Amino acid sequence: MDQQVAAYRLLDGKRCSDSLKERIAIEAAEVKLMRGRAPHLAAVLVGDDGASRTYVEAKVKACESVGFRSTLVRLPATTSEDALLARIDELNRDPELDGFIVQLPLPKHIDADKVMLFIDPRKDVDGFHPVNVGNMVLGQPGFLPATPAGIVELLRHYGVATSGKHCVVVGRSNIVGTPVSILMSRNAEPGNCTVTLAHSRTRDLASITRQADILIIAAGKPEMITGDMVKEGVVVVDVGIHRIEDATRKSGFRLLGDARFSEVAAKASWITPVPGGVGPMTIVSLLQNTLKAARQ
Ligand code: NDP
Repeated sequence: MDQQVAAYRLLDGKRCSDSLKERIAIEAAEVKLMRGRAPHLAAVLVGDDGASRTYVEAKVKACESVGFRSTLVRLPATTSEDALLARIDELNRDPELDGFIVQLPLPKHIDADKVMLFIDPRKDVDGFHPVNVGNMVLGQPGFLPATPAGIVELLRHYGVATSGKHCVVVGRSNIVGTPVSILMSRNAEPGNCTVTLAHSRTRDLASITRQADILIIAAGKPEMITGDMVKEGVVVVDVGIHRIEDATRKSGFRLLGDARFSEVAAKASWITPVPGGVGPMTIVSLLQNTLKAARQ
C-alpha cells in the first residue's frame, strides 16, 4: 500500500498558478505601460452567500497580486432582475473596465441565463456567454470558461499526455463538465482524447470510470469516486470542493473533493489535491482572460 501511495504525482494547481501569475504580472505591467492603465476586472456579487463571497474575494485578491485593478460590485439579495441588468449595462459600457464576472449562483428570482446573455461577449471573461461558448465549440478565438481552461493548462504544465487517451468526464454542467469534454476532444494538445461524458442518468458509472485513462470529476458529490472505480495509472482531475464539518479541526471543517483521495491516489499516476488543485487554476484562467480582454 505504502509503495502504491508513493507512486502518484500531484498536479499541483497552486504551484502551477503561481508560476503563471508571475508571467501575467509582467504582461500586466506591459499593458499598463502601453495604455496608461492596468487591466481592470470587476466582480458582481448579488446577495451574501458565504461561499460566493469567499470565491469573489479570492478573485479580487488574485487581481491585486498581479497588478490588475479590481472592482467589487456588491448588490443586496433583494436586487431585482431589471436592476441587475441595468448595472450590467453600465459595466458593458464602462471604457475603464476590461472584463467582469457575475458570481453564480444568483438569487432564485433572477434568471441567470438572461443575465449571461446580457453581458457583452467582449467583456465576458468567465466565458459563459453563448457567443464565447460557440467560439469554443468551433475552435475560434474567444474567452474559454475558466475552470475547463484551467484544467487543460494544468495538464499542459505537467506534460500529461492526452492524445489518443480515453477521458471520462463525470458531470455535464455548462460551466465545467460539458465545456471540458469539448476541450479534451479538440484536435489540440492537450486534447485529442476520446471522451465519454457521464451524468446522473449514466448506468453503471463504475464500469465506465474504470476505463478512464484520464478521469475528470465534476459531479459535486463528496468522495463519490472510490478506489474500486478507477484503474491503475489513471490521471485524476478532481473539480469538486466541499466544506465538511469536522470538530477535530481548529477551523471546524475540512475540504473534500469528489474523489476519495487516499484510495484513488493509491492507484493514480497523477492526481489533483483538494484544495490546491483545480481551484487556483480557475482563478488564474480568469486573470488570463482579463489580460486578453485588456490587450484587445
Ligand atoms: P452541477 O451541480 O451544476 O453539476 C453536477 C453534474 O454532475 C450534473 O451534470 C449531474 O448530472 C452530475 N452528477 C450528479 N450526481 C451524479 C452521480 N451520482 N453520477 C454521475 N453524475 C452525477 O455542478 P458544477 O459542475 O457546477 O460543479 C461540480 C463540482 O465542482 C462542485 O463541487 C463545485 O463546487 C465544484 N466546482 C469547483 C470549481 C473550482 O474552481 N474548483 C469551479 C466550479 C465548480 P445531471 O446533469 O444529470 O443532473
